[in-house]
Amino acid sequence: MFSADNAVRAEAQPHNELVPSRYALKIGDIEAMVVSDGVLPLPTSTMATNVDPAELAGWLQRNFMPPDAFDWPLNVMVVRSGAQTLLIDAGLGGQFAGFPRAGQFPQRLEAAGIALESITDVIITHMHMDHVGGLLVDGVKQRLRADVRIHVAAAEVAFWTSPDFTHTVMPKPVPGVLRSTARSFYEQYRDNLHVFEERREVAPGVTVRRTGGHTPGHSVVDLASNGERLMFAGDAMFPVGFDHPDWQNGFEHDPEESAKVRIGLFRELAQTGGLLVAAHLPFPSLGRVAAQGDAFRWVPIIWDY
Ligand SMILES: [Zn+2]
Repeated sequence: MFSADNAVRAEAQPHNELVPSRYALKIGDIEAMVVSDGVLPLPTSTMATNVDPAELAGWLQRNFMPPDAFDWPLNVMVVRSGAQTLLIDAGLGGQFAGFPRAGQFPQRLEAAGIALESITDVIITHMHMDHVGGLLVDGVKQRLRADVRIHVAAAEVAFWTSPDFTHTVMPKPVPGVLRSTARSFYEQYRDNLHVFEERREVAPGVTVRRTGGHTPGHSVVDLASNGERLMFAGDAMFPVGFDHPDWQNGFEHDPEESAKVRIGLFRELAQTGGLLVAAHLPFPSLGRVAAQGDAFRWVPIIWDY
């Protein structure tokens, strides 16, 4: 049980970890935990590439955010269902210069009492560096099981053989690093890849489904058990997306399709009342989506531990 681990391991935490960066909950019979990989700073201009900069500046000011750069939260999840332990995304890793506050997930899993050796399956929402980079951290592959299954959409693997950046608006060095990181991930883990076309039930009540948009193989993960639901939405939505779902993000490879996917998932979540976790919503990123017409609102859950 994650909750028991939390209690037992509390004393063993490193002294510098003032805030345990994990949040455990149950979705019916499924145990789930959101783990923060840290944050990475990005230029605010990447948040809205299709609007007047003055409009974005106004939004940032009203939301108490700095004008030029903001901290991009990085969340991953660990899920236990049946006999399987699954990791959903792997964060950025600590191997990229300039991001000293990211790449925390290996230590934080350990602090939570979860051994990399216990992971049977990894689900990758898409092959951007802030989702696969954690698997490339020194020593991680050696500790993962040799037969760990890594589930990723076939369209995603195909996309990165010759990725198209013509519709993205990223800081200059980023496309090159995204390309090389996706290639390293593929080369290091090709024997572990279990590609799927549109959807796959990876464990009881744990289903990955391709949405496309952000990248052609971008996928979300649905947990469902005993009438309870949670969606890990990867990069389908960002904090600004609730107020402005049509604002395009510079990291989206197909920005128009991304907006459609985002709005569709918001509507779905508003309708089902299921919980939402996304890679870049503020930790622990657990809440619901309320809809009123085409306007969406984030409703955080209430801390109950
Ligand atoms: Zn991302």
